[in-house]
Amino acid sequence: MVRNRRPGAFAVNIRDIEHRPGNMREAEFDVALTEQWGEGLVAVEAGETVSLRLRLESVHEGILVSGEVSSRYTGECGRCLTEIDAPVEVEFQELFAYPGGEASDFEVQDDHVDCETLVRDAVVLSLPFQPVCRPDCPGLDPVTGERLADRPEQERSETPDPRWATLAGLLSEPAEDPGASGTNPQNS
Ligand SMILES: [Zn+2]
Repeated sequence: MVRNRRPGAFAVNIRDIEHRPGNMREAEFDVALTEQWGEGLVAVEAGETVSLRLRLESVHEGILVSGEVSSRYTGECGRCLTEIDAPVEVEFQELFAYPGGEASDFEVQDDHVDCETLVRDAVVLSLPFQPVCRPDCPGLDPVTGERLADRPEQERSETPDPRWATLAGLLSEPAEDPGASGTNPQNS
């Protein structure tokens, strides 16, 4: 289905400051995402609220948009697969140039600026590439697949695996040493 070419949820009307350098306005609004942002181990899910605080300044070349965005991302810890749910907050600034002017990644469209790509890129780039549930997450036990963080510290480092107990018993038995029997019957 082809979407209409109308301003989206992230568009801000700038008619009142367009071509009037020195003028400024602010905008604050929330957007509920209709699609997921991010493709990694963590992402901002569809339905999540993205809160925007924008400052739009009219300059000669166009509209300078700066602001901050906050939301939440969810996903899995890259080491132990525990679910992660954490806040994300990013600042951004970009010039939306007037069409036909200076080359720019973003352009003023008619009477508005559409901040969706700008905001989405800022958020996605700030998501951790290798997310962890906590900075010192010990990950999973390579043998059992158990979460090491769930086990008490002592148990982890000091209690040997019961399967080793038999072997340990064998090793601690006094070894038979043929030369240790004090007297040699052949040398009488
Ligand atoms: Zn973890």
